[in-house]
Amino acid sequence: MPKFIGLIGYPLKHSISPYFQQAVLDYYQLDIRYEAWETSPENLELVVAKIREPQNLGANVTVPYKEAVLPLLDEIDDLANLIGAVNTIAKKDDRLTGFNTDAYGFIEALYKEGHFEPEGKQVVLIGAGGAARAVSFALVQKKISSLSVINRTFERAKALADSLKSYIRDFPLHSEGLETEVTALPWESLSSGKTFDRCELIVNCTTIGTKYSSQEGQSPLSIKVIPRGILVYDLVYNPWSTPLLQVAQEAGANILGGLAMLVYQGAASFELWTGREAPIDIMFNKAKEISHLKV
Ligand code: NAP
Repeated sequence: MPKFIGLIGYPLKHSISPYFQQAVLDYYQLDIRYEAWETSPENLELVVAKIREPQNLGANVTVPYKEAVLPLLDEIDDLANLIGAVNTIAKKDDRLTGFNTDAYGFIEALYKEGHFEPEGKQVVLIGAGGAARAVSFALVQKKISSLSVINRTFERAKALADSLKSYIRDFPLHSEGLETEVTALPWESLSSGKTFDRCELIVNCTTIGTKYSSQEGQSPLSIKVIPRGILVYDLVYNPWSTPLLQVAQEAGANILGGLAMLVYQGAASFELWTGREAPIDIMFNKAKEISHLKV
């Protein structure tokens, strides 16, 4: 009898995780099926409870349920608790534990595909949702020197900046007192070149530019504000080349799309479910193949 791992989210029509996860399960010849479990809000509790059935091993959780699943689980790992979002559920001894592998995926892709060392760098982060929380805590833990958080809803940017500041105060990372300086800025700052004056990394953690969404074809930044030579990292992975990345490339910036992060976070999830090392190349090749087919 096969075992199952699910992807819980809504909508899931354009998701590529089922393809690259199945590719590595097949590589190891495991009798496990990775399925898309498209879930409406009223069914979330039921779908999470089904993971407890013996044939199911766990799940990935995606938009819009990364925060909503927390109270439905038995345990939350420390990092997921800090971030306040779960993207992976693993079952052990009939108990469901929530993890967040987005932070790991973001950093792995930054080093391995972006060839960028974050320590001591000045960063502008656009967005304040679940992904922005994972990315910002990961960057602070990597000792960036400053972080400006800019979000359409300013209160959310402020709330994220406040939780980062409390974290920095409670868990100092530097012995010399050189802690990350965190600021929340209004949305209008995105159109001012001054915001990016000394910036070395821009990360887009909003949904702007996502294919098949109302923001398809849009970029959060114009060419005139992006400094030459910096790294622009867009978490959006569909399309492969987002409007922001196109604008950034024209401005002379280096670019990194969200597909690499998706693969690395998926690799960490795979290891939590199976205890086996995920072959990154197999995942990457399948993710690239499918994302090109889907655009
Ligand atoms: P989320 O919690 O729903 O947050 C969405 C963010 O986008 C919020 O900051 C929201 O601002 C902003 N936003 C939405 N529509 C906007 C608009 N029209 N104009 C300006 N801002 C807008 O979602 P999430 O989980 O953080 O995901 C954010 C993005 O990251 C998604 O595209 C997701 O696919 C991507 N992601 C990629 C990976 C990867 O592995 N590559 C992993 C995780 C997430 P408000 O607060 O004002 O609503």
